[in-house]
Amino acid sequence: MTPPTGLRTLIRSLPTGLRTSIWSPPTGLRTLIRLPPTGLRTLIRLPPTGLRTLILLEFWFDWFVVSFYTLYFITLGFFIWYFVRLMFCRRDLRVRHNRVRVLVGSIDKFDTQIQNLFMMSEACLDPSPPERNNLAKPQSSQRDKSKLFICKDKIANSERQGFPQWKVAREMNSLFALNFSSKRNIIFFQPIGEFPSHILDFKVGGIPLLQFLCDFLKTFFHGMEVETQEEISVESLEVTSRYHKVTGKKQVLVTDVLTKLKKFLKHRFHYIVGMSWTDLYPSDDLNFVLGEASYKQRSAVFSFGRYEPQCYHDNKAYDDIVEVDGEILWKLIKVMTHEVCHTFGLAHCVFFECAMNESSSVKEAMSQPLFLCPICLRKLQHLCDFNIRTRYQSLLLICHHVQKYFPTKKMEASIVWLESCLQFLNNERSDTVAVDKV
Ligand SMILES: [Zn+2]
Ligand SMILES: [Zn+2]
Repeated sequence: MTPPTGLRTLIRSLPTGLRTSIWSPPTGLRTLIRLPPTGLRTLIRLPPTGLRTLILLEFWFDWFVVSFYTLYFITLGFFIWYFVRLMFCRRDLRVRHNRVRVLVGSIDKFDTQIQNLFMMSEACLDPSPPERNNLAKPQSSQRDKSKLFICKDKIANSERQGFPQWKVAREMNSLFALNFSSKRNIIFFQPIGEFPSHILDFKVGGIPLLQFLCDFLKTFFHGMEVETQEEISVESLEVTSRYHKVTGKKQVLVTDVLTKLKKFLKHRFHYIVGMSWTDLYPSDDLNFVLGEASYKQRSAVFSFGRYEPQCYHDNKAYDDIVEVDGEILWKLIKVMTHEVCHTFGLAHCVFFECAMNESSSVKEAMSQPLFLCPICLRKLQHLCDFNIRTRYQSLLLICHHVQKYFPTKKMEASIVWLESCLQFLNNERSDTVAVDKV
């Protein structure tokens, strides 16, 4: 800024020392002007701790507010979605879904016909409101509604394992397992011999018996990998054995076999099923067992030992199986799939006539169906994540293959059942009421 002319003249007329002092203030004064004292600067740059804390608090408070509102909007969105769903979903259907939830969990992710299939589990629920949750007394009129699945007469509350109970048990079981390296479910098929040559040479339409059983496992547990292991001898397992006092045949202690089989497993997603030529017994006071499985050890074993009818009739000679026929093939498939299901934690089914029913004799075991009821199917579907239609189609193909070479009435009935089931699932026009018309 230029001083006014009068002032300039006045300054110029001043002596040199004074002019200099006006233009250049002394060092102390300049320092003071340029640099405010340390205390003041500190005060300007850094507000006192209390003030800073206040600023920080405000920052966190802002975060809290943002998080709170985010949560609030998510919750609000959920409720809006829920109410919209309630408005557009049929009330009677909703009530029915909630009723069967105790048996098959949530089935909303499936298409209508699959949902209808699972809704058939409703047949074992008492429809009268005061006893809505009482599974002990299913009404016969309700049971007759589904021809695909036949409800059991007596359903004990203490023994029932619906889908939710099975799922919780599985999750609790794997709660502390920290092995995340692989989640591939593999079933190892382990022949425990030595098998006679006529068993090893037996073919189901060109497929060797062991290979066929493996294929059946792959089809039944659709989506799971199945690997056949090299045959091992029963002696190499070093298990407790005895000679049956009536048949005079060698038997091995089944619990020992399960423990030994478990040692072949390296991973918690691996399961093993042994097929033994030798007869099995569960304990000293019991005669025999067709097969047994352990959920904890993820292993199962079933045996050929009791498949020759002569083996369990006291007044006949006790010969080994000389040839495999359709009946024996059926028994093998039936016991094998039942035992493998146990290794996945499926308990005995008390709801329907089902492949997972408990049996106390060979005759009883063989009178039970080959396939699973909707409740047991829901568990297996959750585990294997298969497409239910594709699985039934594959099962139909393999059953037709068996029936072509070794026809039996049981296999024929299974084929008819599979066809009815597929027909029901492919009936696009049906709505939920179709359950009552099947
Ligand atoms: Zn069982
Ligand atoms: Zn069942």
